[in-house]
Amino acid sequence: IEKEADVIVIGGGGAGLAAAVSASEEGASVILIEKLPMLGGNTIRSGGALNVVYPERQERQGIEDSVDKHFEDTYQGGDELGNPELIRTLVENAYPALRWLEDKGLELQDEVFTVLGALWPRSHESVDPLGSGFIRVLQTEAEKNGVEILMETAAEELIIEDGRVVGVLATSKGNTVTLKANKGVIMATGGFAANVDMRVRYNPDLGANLQTTNSPGATGDGIIMGEAVDANLLGMDYIQSLPLGDPETGSLTGWAGNDAANYLFINKEGNRFVSEAGRRDVMTNGLIEQTDSFMHIVVDSQSMPDGSKNHFNETIEDLVERGQTLKAMSLEELAEKMNVDVDNFTETIAKYNEAVDTGVDEFEKHLLDKKIDQAPFYASPRVPTAHHTMGGLEINNEAQVIDINGNVIPGFYAAGEVTGGIHGSNRLGGNAITDIITFGRIAGKNVAGN
Ligand code: ADP
Repeated sequence: IEKEADVIVIGGGGAGLAAAVSASEEGASVILIEKLPMLGGNTIRSGGALNVVYPERQERQGIEDSVDKHFEDTYQGGDELGNPELIRTLVENAYPALRWLEDKGLELQDEVFTVLGALWPRSHESVDPLGSGFIRVLQTEAEKNGVEILMETAAEELIIEDGRVVGVLATSKGNTVTLKANKGVIMATGGFAANVDMRVRYNPDLGANLQTTNSPGATGDGIIMGEAVDANLLGMDYIQSLPLGDPETGSLTGWAGNDAANYLFINKEGNRFVSEAGRRDVMTNGLIEQTDSFMHIVVDSQSMPDGSKNHFNETIEDLVERGQTLKAMSLEELAEKMNVDVDNFTETIAKYNEAVDTGVDEFEKHLLDKKIDQAPFYASPRVPTAHHTMGGLEINNEAQVIDINGNVIPGFYAAGEVTGGIHGSNRLGGNAITDIITFGRIAGKNVAGN
């Protein structure tokens, strides 16, 4: 089978779909291929929060913010290891990218909040559950613009002629498919946290002992295909784990809580051990050091009133009924259900409630909102889980892929988790969706215009 288009997009997650839509808006013909039988990748399984400085929405809640602050949080949050130019591009183009999606029908929930690891209340969430709002809106738009989507079609190799990427060799249900790209190829295959061998190659601590939040498609294919055409790789050993894994499956689902300002991490001894509003790497490393690398997330009914849902569209009643979250009418009863020392636990909560009053917390939690004092109380068991790979293909501000000698590889673009060098050593919670829609859009626009 042979096909041809101006633009070939590899990967049908958020970055690939954003790129396909943006290229098609510029008048390019586009073929998008996805190796799994469904679109969405890790994007659709994520909590779906994205960080954007959005004054009209933040001002309603009295939140002060600026693009410079988003820049600083992102740069410092990644230990100053991210490329400042790419971070600038990210934070400056995030707002127009989100408005672009809203124009296409993405609806946001009213509340602006702080998703775990975001460091500041600039996280927005769509009304559709998880990341499904982004995928639904982009897929609808792609179809409307005539993007041809080939499912169960896996890219195997880039075709390169005279140093230029001119197409892709793929397999589809046993057939070889040759896809010719007149203008260029956009790699949007996501990360590699679901590929245990690859994880261990770059970070030996993150082997099969760790589960993952990832889609089975997140196996680093785009990084391997890029390497084969001499693309430069950056930050491959920076792999983010979250302290939010389901003990059975590693999944992010199944816990009660919403805003980092309003939940506590409690270890097996009944103590806190870290700021719950801190960096993801700090929180996860803190958890790894606790007994059995295990904790409960504790909230009260102010965070999870009857009938309320978590970020994963699960009601508090369902979580309790399925046994994933414990419920109790008093803190003492909750401690017993959690199997932690009652005195330690009640003392921990009393101390925290005091900190909410004084504004001074022993773990320097800078976002303190409500006390934990309204029954019923809830606790959800959690373990570390491999989540996001910060490393990948080096790109420039135009989303062009850079080779090992520092030169642009003509015809080759990349966006999303497959790229490296933006988030440094630690990606802020909520910055991934921002990244994929912002750079996906840039990649699509630039490839179409070249
Ligand atoms: P991002 O957040 O960067 O968009 P996602 O994980 O959401 O990343 O999406 C990446 C998509 O790419 C997934 O749907 C995944 O199945 C798909 N994919 C991964 N490898 C290939 C490949 N070799 N060929 C086609 N699609 C791929």
